[in-house]
Amino acid sequence: MTKSATRDRLTCTGTLRSAACTDQNGVSPHLVPELNLDVEPFLTFAEAELRAAPPWQSGVCFNPGCGRAFAPTRKWQNYCCRACKQQSRRELAQVGHRLALAMLVWRIHKYAAAGTPEAALVRAARRYVTHVQSAWMQDRARRAADAKGSGDDI
Ligand SMILES: [Zn+2]
Repeated sequence: MTKSATRDRLTCTGTLRSAACTDQNGVSPHLVPELNLDVEPFLTFAEAELRAAPPWQSGVCFNPGCGRAFAPTRKWQNYCCRACKQQSRRELAQVGHRLALAMLVWRIHKYAAAGTPEAALVRAARRYVTHVQSAWMQDRARRAADAKGSGDDI
């Protein structure tokens, strides 16, 4: 994309039904603005705590579908290879996508007065987050068992 095309696309953010917001085929591009979260990644935010209580075992791939033993080349390496790391990134993105709206709703109505529909919505959002967390853990355990099972068959 050329710089002017990029500028044209960027100028249409926030403008509804403007001619500048329509592609040649008449479809609005619906650009997604870049997130501007001024929060460091969790690995940085909780570095000391992760070091004290790592959720992974050193030298064992953290991808539950792999779980292979490997020799880390760096002390923070928790995947045996690039493919496992990329698979984990996709997994984290999928879970994040599943959780995002519930987490946002939870935060929006965090201080809702007891007995209001908003307070009930926050409870539902919190239950949903816990439900997804539990389902995710069960899925990881299943994949880990499948990976171990496939190793035993050889
Ligand atoms: Zn692996």
